[in-house]
Amino acid sequence: MQSITLLGATGSIGESTLDVIARHPDKYSVFALTGNQQIEKLAAQCQRHRAEFAVVNDAPAASRLQAILLDAKCPTEVLYGTEALCQVASAVQVGTVMAAIVGAAGLMPTMAAVNAGKKILLANKESLVMAGGLFMQAVRASGSVLLPVDSEHNAIFQCLPANYVKTETSGISKLLLSASGGPFRGWSAEQMTTVTPEQACAHPNWSMGRKISVDSASLMNKGLELIEACWLFAVAPRQIEVVVHPQSVIHSLVQYIDGSVLAQLGNPDMRTPIAHALAWPNRVDAGVSDLNLFDIAHLDFEPADTTNFPCLTLASQAAVAAGDAPTILNAANEVAVQAFLDRRIGFTQIAEVVDNALSRLTISEPDSLAAVQESDKKARSLSAEYITELES
Ligand code: NAD
Ligand code: MG
Repeated sequence: MQSITLLGATGSIGESTLDVIARHPDKYSVFALTGNQQIEKLAAQCQRHRAEFAVVNDAPAASRLQAILLDAKCPTEVLYGTEALCQVASAVQVGTVMAAIVGAAGLMPTMAAVNAGKKILLANKESLVMAGGLFMQAVRASGSVLLPVDSEHNAIFQCLPANYVKTETSGISKLLLSASGGPFRGWSAEQMTTVTPEQACAHPNWSMGRKISVDSASLMNKGLELIEACWLFAVAPRQIEVVVHPQSVIHSLVQYIDGSVLAQLGNPDMRTPIAHALAWPNRVDAGVSDLNLFDIAHLDFEPADTTNFPCLTLASQAAVAAGDAPTILNAANEVAVQAFLDRRIGFTQIAEVVDNALSRLTISEPDSLAAVQESDKKARSLSAEYITELES
């Protein structure tokens, strides 16, 4: 029986994870569930999945959750705050931690799980983008097993040799990272200046949280994924090629030096990579319908449009610059995406905010998580100021 802490249970990945878990009560049990604002939903999840602990962000949210659970005679114990998130992510009773908090807020609890040597199912790509070097070093030091949940990285993981460690003889020439192109594929920058958050969040193939939906629309998501792939698979940015594939059936590919290309295919449903990571190295039913190639009939491919989608170029540049450039990129992007969702800036200004932060801040090499958080904080305040300037 795997006992699981699910960080970000109330989100899109959280819900899909609980759906898979509930299909296999003989294999998985829930230790702790965490959420931020959706207290009723978290309470219902605690009851349904008999969580031992629930964690929310602050005391008022904890009291609200406690009251609902008392009424329902649900024995789940309620905690709050970052320290509590770290505790449930590193508790001795837990074997597996699903890291599915969105954004930089996921860093500390995910690192707590890594340091405690847990099996990590990583959806929270931002933590790896922010602190990749320190993160991977901690994985090696603790012996934690790190399994990618992001569909592209999960696909690459499946196409790599078992027990993959990059060596001269592993024979990999390139990783081909699939991208759907998002809702604005084929649009000019000019056309995108007036798009709304609703349009940006209406992804053609995947149903996701709002932040990653906006990232997918700007192609920043692909940029973050490029950085994520560099860390996960120990490759250089130039060994990754983004392939726009609008059907989202091929989730990514690995090209080998002998000309072989291995791909992983499936319907676009996050329960597949979640189930893969949960059950690895075995397989379990994910509740996903079989892929019907005759219904799909065509698979299309095109290069990414970096002229109209500058976020992808900014992320590639940050990957090459290394140091805390990805930390700055990520922080500026989070602030910009929130400002776009709040209708304070336009969609194409997201790239301007990120560019401003990267060009104005000096890149340094963070040697501790505190240094990463310092870079993150600086980039956030600089970006917040810049957004105020843009508004006036
Ligand atoms: P979401 O917005 O649907 O859910 C986010 C979760 O994080 C919620 O449970 C929320 O309560 C929690 N959360 C948000 N802010 C928090 C804070 N400050 N402190 C503590 N908890 C907080 O997002 P999602 O789509 O489920 O994505 C989660 C992560 O998975 C992201 O990093 C995203 O990039 C990654 N991911 C998502 C998908 C997808 O299909 N949704 C695919 C690949 C990767
Ligand atoms: Mg992805």
